[in-house]
Amino acid sequence: MEDVPKSYDPSDSTLKFVNRKDEITGDDTPDVLRVEMSCGHAVDPNSLTGWCRSLMDQGHFIFYCPAVNEGTEEKCDKQWSYVEVRRHALLTDEEQQYFEKKIATLAAVQYLPWMWKLRRKKQSNKPVCFLSNLYEREWKILSILLAMYERVEGMRTTL
Ligand SMILES: [Zn+2]
Repeated sequence: MEDVPKSYDPSDSTLKFVNRKDEITGDDTPDVLRVEMSCGHAVDPNSLTGWCRSLMDQGHFIFYCPAVNEGTEEKCDKQWSYVEVRRHALLTDEEQQYFEKKIATLAAVQYLPWMWKLRRKKQSNKPVCFLSNLYEREWKILSILLAMYERVEGMRTTL
């Protein structure tokens, strides 16, 4: 989808640039601009995009850090929000659409039956916990899927 390697704008003051190796690929080429994630590990936009894509390909919609904490065998595993990934991976419009659709679909598979039950019991009409991380666009997709799911489930329960 995106073949041109992405690189950070050095004048972007919202990002914290660091001079350390990429914790996803282990790449430590000196002149590559990398940023520090909320967990303290360094990434570059290409490795971050690739890692998060591979997580989604494996069915994950929660992103986490794959780095191994220095001097230990322990993995960092700290969760990154989509907002953080979007910004640090410099996701293009096309990639954002892909990510958001994919996250919503993966989340739907896991959460729809449960959300539907809650809604039937009138306990909740609102997005719940993890959903507060989502953007309006993802929430819209999820709502459409929920409506479709309700129709199918509704038909099934009236049979
Ligand atoms: Zn980390």
